[in-house]
This record gives sequence, structure tokens and C-alpha cells, in this order.
Amino acid sequence: MPHTILLAEPRGFCAGVVRAIDVLNQVLDAETGPVYAFHEIVHNKYVVDGFRERGAIFVESIEDVPAGSRIVFSAHGVAPGVIAAARDRGLRVIDATCPLVTKVHLEAKKAAKDGFEILLVGHEGHDEVEGTKGEAPDRTRVVDSRRDVQALGEPGRPVFVVTQTTLSVDDTADTIAAVRERFPDAQIRNDICYATTNRQAAVKVLAERAGLVIVVGSANSSNSVRLCEVARAMGTPAYRVDGIAEIDPGWYDGVEVVGLTAGASVPDDLLQPIIDDLRARGVTRIEPVVVAEETVEFRLPE
Ligand code: SF4
Repeated sequence: MPHTILLAEPRGFCAGVVRAIDVLNQVLDAETGPVYAFHEIVHNKYVVDGFRERGAIFVESIEDVPAGSRIVFSAHGVAPGVIAAARDRGLRVIDATCPLVTKVHLEAKKAAKDGFEILLVGHEGHDEVEGTKGEAPDRTRVVDSRRDVQALGEPGRPVFVVTQTTLSVDDTADTIAAVRERFPDAQIRNDICYATTNRQAAVKVLAERAGLVIVVGSANSSNSVRLCEVARAMGTPAYRVDGIAEIDPGWYDGVEVVGLTAGASVPDDLLQPIIDDLRARGVTRIEPVVVAEETVEFRLPE
């Protein structure tokens, strides 16, 4: 049975998630009427359930929000069409979009204005990708892999590349290499954020040294799912769980060292029961694996 836990640092909340959660908490404190949130404020089941208990109402369509209501946009950003629909409905908007996602929107918007065809490297259907694509829907093609790039028709315009912020660093490097091969003059922005990069660097160390990696994070959390994939790509068994209830103790059989990390939308509280359980099973050593120190903070919106 395990005797050691390797605990990734950094792990869990990033600055964009902290900001989005602070925003929704403050709005709930301040408003007397209903508070709506467009999309899950961050992609974590426990965080979203907690806000539901406080009264937040999560919607997928602006049309589900009564005119004049207070609404908060999630950390993943929204398309300009959503902003316009909210304005037309007289909604009182507070935008909790992560500033690093806003930066990608601005890049896409400028590229479209400057006459580029935009290749958005990302996962079709993800909230963030839908928002960024909305800056220039007629000019944007979403590509997820080398194969997608190779299958593209001729763009007919110079190519500009932006990316989702929470992708696999290694897979994205391969997709971008394919873009460079097909469109050598393409202008390329790799927008994978610091939090995604650091958490993947840490999980690689865990996967090198541990016999099992556990990633805490929800199934719809892109960066959490990527952490699990990165560990598995190194040949180490890895599981993504929302919390301790989803852990099968059989995973620990024959494992001496367990790596533990969490996606950028995961409260650290969710790791403690897992650590306590492992201690009860005989773990005597908890070793932090520090790959970076994060000092990023974002100011709250007005
Ligand atoms: Fe912002 Fe990155 Fe956190 Fe997403 S994962 S909210 S882009 S800091």
C-alpha cells in the first residue's frame, strides 16, 4: 500500500477562478433579487453546487433570464452576440471573464479586422471556444489536432492562430507545428495560460515518480482532463475524480507512491479527505513537488 503522497505545487485554483468566484460571491452578497450566471461560473461541480445552494441560477441561454435581472458572465468568456442579447434584454451584467481569456478575444477580434483567417486551436463546443469563435464566426475555424490542420481547405487569406487557454501544452505544440508546415507565414499566438502550463509541468513530475496519479477536477473541466491525459501519456495510471467518493481503493494496490493534483477550478478542501484517507491506509510521508511559484492576481471588475 502507498507510503508517500507527492503533492503537486501549484495545483487547484488559478487567479482567474479566484476572481470569478469572488465576483459571484460579492454579487450574491449585494443583490436582494435573483442572481443569474451565464454558464457554470467555473467548471467545478462542488463550486457550482455551492453557489446553487446560495441561490445563484445558472442558465445556458440569455432568453431564460427575466428582463432587467442581474447576470454574471463566467470565467470562460462569452461571444459578443451574448453581450448584445443581454444588453437588448436590459440585463445588468457583471463580467467575470478571466483577463487571459479576454486577451484571446482581443487577439481574434483584431486579427479578423486586419483581414486574417483565424485558426482557433481548441475543443469545439467548450464554453471558452464558443466565446472566442463568436468574435469572428465567419472567419474562424476550430482545429483540435494535426489531422484537423491537414484536413483544412485553402483559407484564401493569411492565417492567424489563437488557442484555448487550457489545452495540453504538448498536443498544442504538435498542432501548431502542423500549422507552420502548412502555412509557413501564419502568425501564431499560443495562449495556453500560466496556470495550465504550471499544472501540467507539475503532473509530469508526479507521473515520473509515482505509481498512480489522482487528479481532482470535474469532467467538464478542460484543464483537469488534460492533467489526467498528460500523466497517462507518460505511461502512469491516472484517474480524474470529482472527490474522494469516486476513488476506488483498489487503485492503490501495489502502489507505493501516489501523485495528487487538482485542476485550476478545484478548491483545495477537496484534496484533504483523500490525503486523510491515504494516511489512514499507511501513508507517512507527504512531499510537495514544487515546479513554480504563482503570484498572479487579477483585480475584480468594477
Ligand atoms: Fe484564466 Fe488560465 Fe485560470 Fe482559465 S485556467 S481562468 S485562463 S488563469
